Amino acid sequence: MKLWVGIDDTDSPQGMCTTYLAVLIIKELEERGLSITGFPRLIRLNPTIPFKTRGNGAVSFMVESDSYDVVKDVVDSVIRRNAMLDHDSTNPGAVFVNPDDDAAIDSLFRFSQRALKEIVMIDEAKSAIKEHKIEYLEYKTGRGLIGALAAVGIHLNDFTLEKIAYRSPERFGTEREIDEEAFYTADLQTYPDTWDTVDWHNRVVVSVPNSPDPVLFGIRGDNISAIDEAFGMIESEPFDFQMTFVTNQGTDMHLIDESEVRELKNYHSYILKGEVVKKPFIEEGGHVFFFIRTRFGVVKCSAFEPTKQFRNIITELVEDDLLKVYGSMKKDTVNLEKIHILKLADILVEENPLCPSCGKRMESAGKNQGFRCRKCKTKSYEKVIRKLKREIEEGFYEVPPCARRHISKPLVRMDVENKHIFR
Ligand code: ATP
Repeated sequence: MKLWVGIDDTDSPQGMCTTYLAVLIIKELEERGLSITGFPRLIRLNPTIPFKTRGNGAVSFMVESDSYDVVKDVVDSVIRRNAMLDHDSTNPGAVFVNPDDDAAIDSLFRFSQRALKEIVMIDEAKSAIKEHKIEYLEYKTGRGLIGALAAVGIHLNDFTLEKIAYRSPERFGTEREIDEEAFYTADLQTYPDTWDTVDWHNRVVVSVPNSPDPVLFGIRGDNISAIDEAFGMIESEPFDFQMTFVTNQGTDMHLIDESEVRELKNYHSYILKGEVVKKPFIEEGGHVFFFIRTRFGVVKCSAFEPTKQFRNIITELVEDDLLKVYGSMKKDTVNLEKIHILKLADILVEENPLCPSCGKRMESAGKNQGFRCRKCKTKSYEKVIRKLKREIEEGFYEVPPCARRHISKPLVRMDVENKHIFR
């Protein structure tokens, strides 16, 4: 018999990581002779959730077992031994779902869509559990049940892969020993089949976390042999083990198209079309803001300081540029992840005409007297209108890898024209 296991909310900013804990569970299940079907899944949910630790990730995997009890016992003991249960905001949850229960799987699919795009209440998770008689484990408030159910219910029509190396426990919280240059070489060798390993422009190794969790580094991409190749090129401290996850990282599954909604809400992420109202402005700290006119009214958009050179694109926007913006709404402002410039407005300037004889710019001949060339004595009565060259082009622009959200789709994965990739 096969069984889906979903787990979430085992970590805290002080340590641990739900993927690590899931791998500990998988190892223990395998030691007991049970086999895991395929890769485990690392599922990123609504990235705006206020109580997330970091990237709002949950994990699910499928195990072959004749008994729910054995699997539940292993999951329970690994969570009790490893989860950051003393931390206020760590509220683990685990669920065990029969993949042949079509009604449960359908309902969890719908639940997962909401967990990706909206805010879900713990009561809704508990009523789904009750309605479909789902086996579960909860600790403290059990808020992790939300992510655990969603990680089981999600369909990965689009997916990517991440291969993660985990540190030995005695090194948790210490500085990671890694050869940074090896990540740049690995990127050169395997991009675009791997991506977001490093940020060349900002000189950041983005595949190595800064937090005290057990992850040493993770290589992301679309092609497993390229990921393995890049992974094999990394020089680092010895690590305990590694695991490849199938994931919805880099898929934009959190985004809601404007055609699907009647109003915009905070803690939701959108694709919105609109015209720039007036030139963007820069505020203290280097954050850039502007407004667009959309079918919902005027909406504020932001490119915060960490989005680095993306802000240089935004500051080039002018009134009437037509855009699609991609990003999450918080404090009534869309925090941009990328933009699609659909139509650049013309910037027209009036100038004195050029002399048809010598080509020099004419000067005013006096009030209402038109223009003249002092040297050639030519005359003209009309100003000329010139279209200024724009420093940006129509097409897609995105934040650089160092500012990318786990779930955001990098342009390198998008099959679109006119991509401007920051690497
Ligand atoms: P990490 O990425 O390191 O595993 P995290 O950022 O995933 O950490 P969690 O500790 O898992 O953070 O906390 C996220 C919490 O939010 C979990 O309890 C999860 O069940 C819950 N959650 C996830 N998505 C939603 C949602 N859409 N609505 C409400 N709660 C959610």
